[in-house]
Amino acid sequence: MSDCCSSQKPEKIKRHSCPVHGQLCLQVAVSTIIHHLKSPWEYPLKDQAYYFCDDPGCDVVYFGEDDSVINKQLLRTVVGIKQQTDDAVICYCFGVSKSDAMNNPVANAFVIEQTKQGVCACATRNPSGRCCLKDFPK
Ligand SMILES: [Zn+2]
Repeated sequence: MSDCCSSQKPEKIKRHSCPVHGQLCLQVAVSTIIHHLKSPWEYPLKDQAYYFCDDPGCDVVYFGEDDSVINKQLLRTVVGIKQQTDDAVICYCFGVSKSDAMNNPVANAFVIEQTKQGVCACATRNPSGRCCLKDFPK
């Protein structure tokens, strides 16, 4: 589970352009998507690659190789990077908001330490399937 934060080289992940805003997005596991869909039994996923759109201005969260899209309205998770507010969640493993990350060095250090120890669940809890730390303000 912890390899989301260290060993996975971004170059090895497949990319595909978002059918709505057109930018290249990274592949995401179907096992990640079903943990964020509202009533996933009503939205059977196809046997194909899916991608995560990380553009804050785009309503699409996931899309398939066949250009089918899953908008944020179809999810039960509020996707932090699609929100412009400071209370948007950016670490789903420990519930850290954007303003916590900017103003609370203790919360920040906690996330960095847990991630280093592999005590995180980004691959499942983060809708992008990738490490929460990459979304932290630098
Ligand atoms: Zn998009």
